Amino acid sequence: MTHILFKEIKVGTLTLPNRVIMGSMHTGLDHTDDPFNRMAAFYKERAEGGVGLIVTGGVSPNEQGLISPGATILNKPEQVDSYRIITEAAHRAGSKIIMQILHAGRYAKQHKLVAPSAIRSPINKFEPQEITHDNILQTIKDFANSAELAQQAGFDGIEILGSEGYFLNEFTAPRTNKRNDQWGGSLENRIRFPLDVVRAIRQKLGTNFLIQYRMSVLELVDEGWNIDDAKQFAQALEAVGIDIINTGIGWHEATIPTIAMQVPRAAFSWATAKIKSAVNIPVAAANRINTVDTAEAILQRGDADLVYMARPFLADANFVVKAQQGRADEINTCIACNQSCLDKIFVGQTASCLVNPRACHETLLPILSTTSNVKKIAVIGAGAAGLSFSVEAAKNGHNVTLFESKSEIGGQMLYAHLVPGKEEFDELLRYFTVMLEKYSVTLKTNHTVEAEQLKQEGFDLIALASGIKPRPLDIPGINHPSVMSYEEAFTQPDKIGATVVIIGAGGIGFDMAEFISHEASEQDPIQAYNESWGIDPEGLQAGSLTSPVPHKPIRNISLLQRKAGKFGRTLGKSTGWIHMIELQKRGVQMIGDLSYTKIDDQGLHIEREGEAQILTADTIIICAGQESHDQIAESLNGAAKQVVRIGGVKQVKELDAAQAISDGIELAYQLEQG
Ligand code: NAP
Ligand code: SF4
Repeated sequence: MTHILFKEIKVGTLTLPNRVIMGSMHTGLDHTDDPFNRMAAFYKERAEGGVGLIVTGGVSPNEQGLISPGATILNKPEQVDSYRIITEAAHRAGSKIIMQILHAGRYAKQHKLVAPSAIRSPINKFEPQEITHDNILQTIKDFANSAELAQQAGFDGIEILGSEGYFLNEFTAPRTNKRNDQWGGSLENRIRFPLDVVRAIRQKLGTNFLIQYRMSVLELVDEGWNIDDAKQFAQALEAVGIDIINTGIGWHEATIPTIAMQVPRAAFSWATAKIKSAVNIPVAAANRINTVDTAEAILQRGDADLVYMARPFLADANFVVKAQQGRADEINTCIACNQSCLDKIFVGQTASCLVNPRACHETLLPILSTTSNVKKIAVIGAGAAGLSFSVEAAKNGHNVTLFESKSEIGGQMLYAHLVPGKEEFDELLRYFTVMLEKYSVTLKTNHTVEAEQLKQEGFDLIALASGIKPRPLDIPGINHPSVMSYEEAFTQPDKIGATVVIIGAGGIGFDMAEFISHEASEQDPIQAYNESWGIDPEGLQAGSLTSPVPHKPIRNISLLQRKAGKFGRTLGKSTGWIHMIELQKRGVQMIGDLSYTKIDDQGLHIEREGEAQILTADTIIICAGQESHDQIAESLNGAAKQVVRIGGVKQVKELDAAQAISDGIELAYQLEQG
């Protein structure tokens, strides 16, 4: 098949070598000690990886628009040289780069914030002030000034962020714009501000400077606009000289997931297609496009002219070049977990990536050259830690044998990928399988190792990555036939009854509740997602919202924790709320502040608020955390020159796939540093 993805495209006065735009991301690099050099290194690797056009993280045009104190801003000539470090790095590596101008409006987490109307966002504690008419005129000039400085810094253009509920979007939506002057009221008035911003930039910089506009297509909030309004706006953008329209989906305050794993791939390209049908300029599709096939299918269907992918470039800087060379199976795919990118940003840390811990740490973890000191290495356990270390060490030239007692690789990921909405873990398993082969790791599955055997084989290093095992509980009756471990429940779901009690409401308890509460369905995943979350598939209702179709519970499920207080505290910051809603929709009861007394034929006996109660259950599934699976550890002493632990066997507390993969990579680095 001839890929459209790799065909040139003319955008404005530029010609891009392919149809892939690396999307803008908050990386947190702006808050590090060496922001511009680290950003330059980050973009350079992606540029070398063949992406057609890079969009930087958001840069504010003025103080009021800063997303947080200390975030990047470009409003003074003396800042230009710093930004030039980024453009030169991208250009040297052969890519075009544009700067995103982001005015955060009422999402700004600082005290100077302004909005069209003084209405606080439900996701921000800071109250905005209503922006005055004079200030609006000044802000238009600020946008044009920032764009001009960006041009001086060497950027090939800019992207104006006008979606996701940020400042420009706040003008266009009735939800946040209650003004009675020329900037509010009718659609014509509400789109005046963004159009004037574009006009001012064009007037200042002429046509030889790319302007991409990220407009809101599906708002997914009450009092948002509908797709017909969005189409009219797209036409108005074309008329004022925009070169590319990029299609934004959902406000940050929407209570519908738009980028998480639970969202089907390419779930919104139907909406992008509606915008494309209304204009004659190139249109880009965004959100949950993470594989070559997904991207190509969007282009083949004619839904869009370009694809805008952000997190996939955290996961793999070389996405494009691998795809172009027919090596798509070597791409480390973004699994849309948000765990190491967005969740880190939310707590003020530098972003990274669960599947690629080097992301945004390029200067701290440089690409290693092949080792001159080849070691013979044994790795015990093919879970996330063992796999990542094996691949990284073998890539550096070491001679690696990976032992796994089960018949397949994956460890805990073999359970995660069974959970509805977490099927993307399949991609990670595929990636590791391909990498083991590519770097000639000797894989021995169905192989339980003995220390003596390892000793005889003369390894220089043994990496113990035998992971974790379920924590045993000593509740009386724990051996009752109704009790299953989570491992048994995942692998033998036919044995799970109609009334189920889950002991433990951590990540695995939640996963288990999802696993046993979802009905098997042949329905198209995008249709099912739209129905479940109440998205109008035509986009014609206000905010493109409609009533969700209720789920019929397929089991009677109770999820338990001993502690009092909120459920789901240990779940991801940006995704925990999705799990909570999913389970509530499926009628899962959450019961906390209790103790377990015993298990018998009647079910699970608990004590709650001083009263004894019985929770009847056909099946009781234990998801009560883990402990290290380290029984071989002691016997390994002296079995090789060096024995080290990585992953769950080293530290079980707060272990997740991100920590395990990162542990493996770190050990590979330590090896090279002696
Ligand atoms: P976990 O998060 O530590 O949760 C263990 C649960 O068991 C808690 O609800 C705890 O609550 C309960 N528990 C602990 N000791 C118990 C005992 N002796 N008797 C009865 N109940 C007990 O462990 P996990 O769910 O197994 O997850 C393991 C790791 O994988 C975690 O780090 C987690 O973050 C990660 N993970 C993450 C996700 C995700 O969605 N991000 C998904 C899966 C796993 P009480 O003590 O209040 O009863
Ligand atoms: Fe994708 Fe998860 Fe990596 Fe973020 S952390 S880029 S969502 S794989």
